[in-house]
Amino acid sequence: MTIMKTLLPTSIAGSLPKPVWLAQPETLWSPWKLQDDELIEGKQDALRLSLLAQQQAGIDIISDGEQTRQHFVTTFIEHLSGVDFTQRKTVKIRNRYDASVPVVVDAVTRPQSVFVDDAKYLRQQTQQPIKWALPGPMTMIDTLYDSHYKSREKLAWEFAKILNQEARELEAAGVDIIQFDEPAFNVFFDEVNDWGIAALEKAVEGLKCETAVHICYGYGIKANTDWKKSLGAEWRQYEEVFPKLQRSAIDMISLECHNSRVPMDLIELIRGKKVMVGAIDVANHAIETPEEVASTLRNVFKFVDPDKLYPSTNCGMAPLPRRVAEAKLQALSAGAAILRNELSK
Ligand SMILES: [Zn+2]
Repeated sequence: MTIMKTLLPTSIAGSLPKPVWLAQPETLWSPWKLQDDELIEGKQDALRLSLLAQQQAGIDIISDGEQTRQHFVTTFIEHLSGVDFTQRKTVKIRNRYDASVPVVVDAVTRPQSVFVDDAKYLRQQTQQPIKWALPGPMTMIDTLYDSHYKSREKLAWEFAKILNQEARELEAAGVDIIQFDEPAFNVFFDEVNDWGIAALEKAVEGLKCETAVHICYGYGIKANTDWKKSLGAEWRQYEEVFPKLQRSAIDMISLECHNSRVPMDLIELIRGKKVMVGAIDVANHAIETPEEVASTLRNVFKFVDPDKLYPSTNCGMAPLPRRVAEAKLQALSAGAAILRNELSK
């Protein structure tokens, strides 16, 4: 299915900063500053501001900027039953940093939809194509302590079924692209190949809208930037999972490219898929010039046909100051315009 008439349609990978009156800026898992009905209204207002920022920057595919969630994984899990948030255990997330996480104590189910009302609200606000992100099954299990299933694969499979229910309702609400965030795919290669991709395919089963998977090197927080420093001169993580992804049912793959040490020729391994190319670095405050963005995109033309190239950001921008994030949106848009112009000659 083709939803885009524009060549090189731009979008963001995930989050945008929240307004200061809604949550503490430049902070992950930032607590809400409003409560109850005020919080519901505040989240909707923030969603509209995030839409406006994207429209003013000329972004083609609109996201919610994750304005209605505290965290891209936790908020989804909070709405499920079977997970006890009063019990906490410390686990190592993505083999990288300790976090205090809730405990799976019973069979996990989704008593009601999680983001569908938010998606309907965004759908009402714009005629542009919209993209909605959900956490991927593997990234979800990696953010929990499991004392019920005692099997990462089993728990991931249950989450995949739940995600599929949510995704079908998002599609019915008018979402054009459903994206699954799977940073864990860059860490647990054996599991990705054994059952991770199968779980992801379970999550997209029966969907007619476009489906995407976002695989990145994480937010620009210290645990991630330190980890990146340990990865050496060439980051070849994508090489481990791309061959199977290429053969998977997923339509689009969202990648980190600009300022990363990912060898661009790895993208050849997903030839035929649509590729969301991260042309904006979310780990520093320097604003890319349009020419830098264009140059990153130009570098992948060898491996991605122009009609399959979706300029994007490397990851979410929640931890950035709002002014920086908005300037980066404009750079993304201006960089894509340079290339569009070149292609039309
Ligand atoms: Zn990311």
